[in-house]
Amino acid sequence: MLGLMQQQDLSVSSLIDFAEKHHGDVEIVSRRMEGDIHRSTWATIASRSRQVANALDQCKIGQGARVATLAWNGYRHLELYFGVSSSGRVIHTLNPRLHPDQIVWIANHAEDEVMCFDMTFLPIAQQIHARCTTVKHWVALCDADKLPADSGIPGLVSYESWMSHQSTDYAWPTLDENSASCMCYTSGTTGNPKAALYSHRSTVLHAYACALPDVMCLSARDSILPVVPMFHVSAWGLPYSAAMVGAKLVFPGAALDGKSIYELLETEKVTLAAGVPTVWQMLLGHLGANNLRFNYLKRTVIGGSACPPAMIHAFNDQYGVEVLHAWGMTELSPLGTLCTLKNKHLDLPEDEKMKIRLKQGRAIFGIDFKIVDDNGKEQAHDGKAYGDLLVKGPWVIQEYFKQEGASPLVDGWFPTGDVATVDADGYMQITDRSKDVIKSGGEWISSIDVENIAMAHPDVLMAACIGMAHPKWDERPIVVVVPKPGKTVVREELLKFYEGKIAKWQIPDDAVFVESIPIGATGKMLKTKLREMLSTYQLPS
Ligand code: ADP
Repeated sequence: MLGLMQQQDLSVSSLIDFAEKHHGDVEIVSRRMEGDIHRSTWATIASRSRQVANALDQCKIGQGARVATLAWNGYRHLELYFGVSSSGRVIHTLNPRLHPDQIVWIANHAEDEVMCFDMTFLPIAQQIHARCTTVKHWVALCDADKLPADSGIPGLVSYESWMSHQSTDYAWPTLDENSASCMCYTSGTTGNPKAALYSHRSTVLHAYACALPDVMCLSARDSILPVVPMFHVSAWGLPYSAAMVGAKLVFPGAALDGKSIYELLETEKVTLAAGVPTVWQMLLGHLGANNLRFNYLKRTVIGGSACPPAMIHAFNDQYGVEVLHAWGMTELSPLGTLCTLKNKHLDLPEDEKMKIRLKQGRAIFGIDFKIVDDNGKEQAHDGKAYGDLLVKGPWVIQEYFKQEGASPLVDGWFPTGDVATVDADGYMQITDRSKDVIKSGGEWISSIDVENIAMAHPDVLMAACIGMAHPKWDERPIVVVVPKPGKTVVREELLKFYEGKIAKWQIPDDAVFVESIPIGATGKMLKTKLREMLSTYQLPS
């Protein structure tokens, strides 16, 4: 017997319609490229997203066609998110931090038909436009009077002249909830980038999940600042979730330095901010140097790479801000787990609670995970046994775009490429990316553990642990360290700092000091590059 409830396809358009109808006056604040602060509302975003849809119709952009962006977090990007997807096209967010040749490769692979770019990225657009063979329309995200006369890009129009004279009426089409809404390429640290193609259904379900109390706990009382870029995995879905709950959004544009972010957090009374650890490092540095405090910020979601314990402590103990440690990946839209305590943990002493908060967290309803050994055998949930992390759920990819038929799944599970433990309460902890695992004398050493200890040293800014070939032990770990500005760290003292914190055989054989550690397009340390930098390095004998 079938249920007798209404059948309604889940759609991105329902999110913007809802935000307009029920939270129309809620502000969307953006720091623009020009440096000024722009103020809009959900109602205006909705109306302008319909103008975007009309502009796309006028350009004869068909259903399912890809509309690409090369843009910072800002109100125009948000209008494109909703206008493009709600009208049945696919928004394809390109990562401007990639090499221009890689952007060309991705744009051609995606067959992008429209390219919208922020003026910061005009030099990239100028370099790539002749090679992006499928792009028919180039749109600069600026006012008409800011469009350069001699951009060298034939037919370039300003966003405002392209869309702002269009009608604000548009009837969103009824779409199959499984149709594509957004496309995002993995950063391609190994091989060519691959595209995850999110559907309206997966996007709405992911938005629901993010908003749950044990996830980001989003509500109409929040003012949310996504530092995490809209060009990488939809700013962790926050634009969609914010529309769903009617939260205020605050966009930092290109100014990601500690001072600029701090100013926005305070003036816009931001309650929740989200970003990768490297960005928070800059913010904490600014606060420390200027003896500042947060007056409004309550929680910060940190993910994308392991959040060093020292950072969780700083936010929690010094500034009274709750850190929500999250794990996810492009293939998961991206959220997989998030760390919040359970009822039974509430009376634990502070240091015991902290041990839990350091983990990447519990599964969110919708996501199932397991850890398996090399033979696919499930490993115990005892917090000690580790294995390859596999996931499944309605916002996990089934196949990559243009690789249909070659499913990455193993018996219906997506192998994440991460190695993890799971404790008896279901808290998952990433020990390594499988390709970064260090094997010493047949035992694994977690590079994240080694890095976290170095990061707890007061004079260390950044640390990366990599394995070096060793004649007897196969591999031994070394730690590569960037000291804080104006500080020196002594090798012997740092190695001594490890004593008592991990087993003796896990202590790195050496500490190497560098000016900077290479960071990739998505804010993660590039260990492949680091290994190249240290290609002539010899372990101490
Ligand atoms: P890619 O760099 O391949 O594009 P993503 O940007 O999607 O991938 O990043 C996904 C990966 O980032 C995860 O598989 C994991 O290795 C790492 N990661 C994400 N969040 C965390 C976290 N909280 N702790 C440790 N690693 C993390």
